[in-house]
Amino acid sequence: MSLSKIKHIVLVLSGKGGVGKSSVTTQLALSLSLAGHSVGVLDVDLTGPSIPRMFAIEDAKVTQAPGGWLPITVHEADPSDGIGSLRVMSLGFLLPRRGDAVVWRGPKKTAMVRQFLSDVFWDELDYLLIDTPPGTSDEHISLAETLLQRARPEQFAGAVVVTTPQAVATADVRKELNFCSKTGIQVLGVVENMSGFVCPNCSECTNIFMNGGGEVMANDFGVPFLGRVPIDPQFLVLIEAGTRPTYPVGTEVNGRDISTPIATV
Ligand code: ADP
Repeated sequence: MSLSKIKHIVLVLSGKGGVGKSSVTTQLALSLSLAGHSVGVLDVDLTGPSIPRMFAIEDAKVTQAPGGWLPITVHEADPSDGIGSLRVMSLGFLLPRRGDAVVWRGPKKTAMVRQFLSDVFWDELDYLLIDTPPGTSDEHISLAETLLQRARPEQFAGAVVVTTPQAVATADVRKELNFCSKTGIQVLGVVENMSGFVCPNCSECTNIFMNGGGEVMANDFGVPFLGRVPIDPQFLVLIEAGTRPTYPVGTEVNGRDISTPIATV
């Protein structure tokens, strides 16, 4: 079974679309790989897979090997720089044409989620990050059921929940936290994304969507608050331009600057 060689499985959840769930998944993946861990990203946002775009690998095609589908390699582990491997699997790679609409009913989505969890050949991974669709839909229920059944308890670490600071978003994310407690998924913590905008000229932080909503919500639910990620216009520019963000800003490995200006978690 493809999950057996994975040490930690982490779901990334959000109550609403557009709050930056895929961006946070991407940042987590880059940060963990930079720290030397081998990382896999599984994009289970079946109707709106945006992970291929985040990693600028939209035209990649997945191939079938005897061990299963081979995920797309974004970075191969290199002992000389200490960066861990980074591989990605998404439904986007299996669609005949980029941008094809996926109009599926629940049972087909459930089958696809199960197949993703059993048929991808990840080999050894320190972390598998699973990017999910917004809300609590068929994909979430299938993921929760399958992972709770098939992953060992020490493997399935739990969920990181992403929100923006304003009440409209946090109200939906509260439902996500309730979903976790009902299904028995441990909440690793809440990330407040788009938490203020730091002016590149004067460095003053403007709280465009107010701030603090994520922390209040985390406190209300008694779960850890993991931190805030500001709006980073350069990150947006990279994604819009189809340029692959590599590693967080200011990163140096063995004295070599490998940074790209992106927000860090
Ligand atoms: P979701 O997965 O929740 O639907 P995305 O991660 O796709 O949201 O983000 C929606 C849009 O907002 C994308 O264009 C993304 O590049 C942008 N974005 C997300 N977080 C940030 C951030 N911290 N700074 C700048 N742009 C961001």
